[in-house]
Amino acid sequence: MSERVLAFDQALEEVLTQARSGGGARGVEVVELLAGAGRVLAAAVVADRDQPAFDRSTRDGYAVHAGDVAKALRVVGSVRAGESWTGAALGEGEAIEIMTGAPVPAGANAVVMVEHTTLVEGTLRVEAGRALTVGENVVPRGAETVAGNVVLPVGRVLGAAEISVAASCGLAKVQVFARPTVAIVATGDELVELDEPMETWQIRNSNSYALAALAEAAGGVGKRLAVARDTLGELRAQVAEGREADLLLLSGGVSMGKYDLVEQVLREFRAEFFFTGALIQPGKPVVFGRIPRHPEMRGSFASLRMTAKNEQLQDRSAPAWTYFFGLPGNPVSTQVCFALFVAPMLRALAGRTEIAPVFVEARLAEEVKGGARVTRFLPAELSGGWDGVEVRVVGWQGSGDVVANARGNGYVVLPAGVEHFPVGLTVRVLLR
Ligand code: AMP
Ligand code: MG
Repeated sequence: MSERVLAFDQALEEVLTQARSGGGARGVEVVELLAGAGRVLAAAVVADRDQPAFDRSTRDGYAVHAGDVAKALRVVGSVRAGESWTGAALGEGEAIEIMTGAPVPAGANAVVMVEHTTLVEGTLRVEAGRALTVGENVVPRGAETVAGNVVLPVGRVLGAAEISVAASCGLAKVQVFARPTVAIVATGDELVELDEPMETWQIRNSNSYALAALAEAAGGVGKRLAVARDTLGELRAQVAEGREADLLLLSGGVSMGKYDLVEQVLREFRAEFFFTGALIQPGKPVVFGRIPRHPEMRGSFASLRMTAKNEQLQDRSAPAWTYFFGLPGNPVSTQVCFALFVAPMLRALAGRTEIAPVFVEARLAEEVKGGARVTRFLPAELSGGWDGVEVRVVGWQGSGDVVANARGNGYVVLPAGVEHFPVGLTVRVLLR
């Protein structure tokens, strides 16, 4: 078996390359605007009118000619938000009372704040010495965007800010990408489902749940398949079912142990492996690849590529391949590998354009011993305020320690080959 173990940045690059070429969403749906929260835009949102649609006052005050500030001004009327001034254009020496959000009347070219004025018996005076520039306290029509402009591109996740933009453009419904389905196969003879009685030496299948939750967060729909025991027969059955999904995740069975059969079974399915390990800890045995989705496509890869030219297989909704990840079974390894490698792939399958994992910089609050020969990703607690962001490693019992992992909110990245990480050192933290 040819192994391909990559440095972590190369492994990530490999995932990003595949995600950008073979990712992309598999379908489109139209949903109510609020139901679109967290979904990915499949059609750009275009401004239906100029924003603002009129010259808008940003203050409560008086609409005036900027050049008139030194004069005694006559207040000739008032305009509030939701109204439009219907009187004559503002003349010289005149002022119109105006509220925040109201359209600036024709003839005026600035708004003076009410706090900077005094009104005595109908005569308005601007505070002595106060200058007013043309356009002050006014957002001109179309300054934010003009009708026909793209205000939200395809591939953007709809958060509150994006929903506010879509609403401002009058969209009661939005077109979003279908969520990719993620088949989740936990493997292991030791695993017990949550509602089953168990022996002391058995392990609850927590990974299927963690992966389903992570899949949802990355824009997918997790589908927990039955646990596969460490037998070729059960693994084959679950891989055959799992490849119908947009992404196949397997947990466990990718290490060097006697019962680690996942890679072997994937090879039987004619897997193409992009890597069979990454120089990271935890998570070193992680594998990434793809298998032909259609059983009839079994055969040499050359013939496979020819078949892929077939029109039906070029259809985006019927991709020729299913990407898979084989994740090491220890729960923290599983979750680190998800944050690093699976999430970017899944975001791409969900149609997102921003897919790479996010790393932030923080100061180490406590020293950490180094000396590892691989890049480490340790559960860590990131905290921050005005004084900057700091991070401390969570004490843990290794990659099976789900309790410690849950005390952290990210993974501090400790590069290989460094002996000692002193307090105050700036390090990177992988957000999760
Ligand atoms: P493996 O990668 O198959 O060698 O699994 C390593 C260890 O991870 C096992 O010995 C279990 O303790 C743990 N493990 C494997 N699968 C799961 C799972 N689905 N849920 C929780 N822990 C697991
Ligand atoms: Mg196992």
